[in-house]
Amino acid sequence: MKRVFGSFNQQVVHHSKNLLEAAGIRVLIRNQYLSSAMGELPPAECQAEVWVLDDADAGRAEEVLRWKPPPGPDWRCSCGETLGGQFTQCWSCGAYRS
Ligand SMILES: [Zn+2]
Repeated sequence: MKRVFGSFNQQVVHHSKNLLEAAGIRVLIRNQYLSSAMGELPPAECQAEVWVLDDADAGRAEEVLRWKPPPGPDWRCSCGETLGGQFTQCWSCGAYRS
């Protein structure tokens, strides 16, 4: 197994999985539910991750995933921080986008 993608954005991770499965690549998602543990685990451990079951598919998977999610408009956190649309969580206070 090989990790090909990771993100705090569950929707992006699921979208990636769908893209890969549409391309005939078998994948699974790890850490899908860990983001609720944010604050107790280091952030890097809380990313949802897409893994290919067969290492031989990793190169093709990375090509399939060579897309950028639409960033969307900036948003303002309740703490006053302005964040780019690609972020789902405030880096200043840790709050999730509502
Ligand atoms: Zn904030």
